[in-house]
Amino acid sequence: MAMTKLEMGAAAQTAVKVEEKLFYNRYLVDAGRPHITVRPHDTPSAALLALTRICPAGCYSQADGGQVEIASDGCMECGTCRVLCGESGDIEWNYPRGGFGVLYKFG
Ligand code: SF4
Repeated sequence: MAMTKLEMGAAAQTAVKVEEKLFYNRYLVDAGRPHITVRPHDTPSAALLALTRICPAGCYSQADGGQVEIASDGCMECGTCRVLCGESGDIEWNYPRGGFGVLYKFG
């Protein structure tokens, strides 16, 4: 059954943005022991560059020199970057140590 314009407008007003949902997560940072690291490189591979766009938590960014960097503090452990770059060796991915990492509050 199709929604009326009025129903679609009401749904749009109650829709929650991803950023708002991510705000509810909490992270226990394992200082000095990031669970994901990027292999040192001068020029990033296409897969590394893709991570700056597809990581849902925005953990990857490009430095002024063009290299891809990660700040894994907000990682949701979804595994997207592991699937994309795990085999190439562009990144090293491990789960955080027990008790560290993301703490989901709503799901
Ligand atoms: S596991 Fe997911 S959230 Fe964490 S850095 Fe990789 S893509 Fe981002």
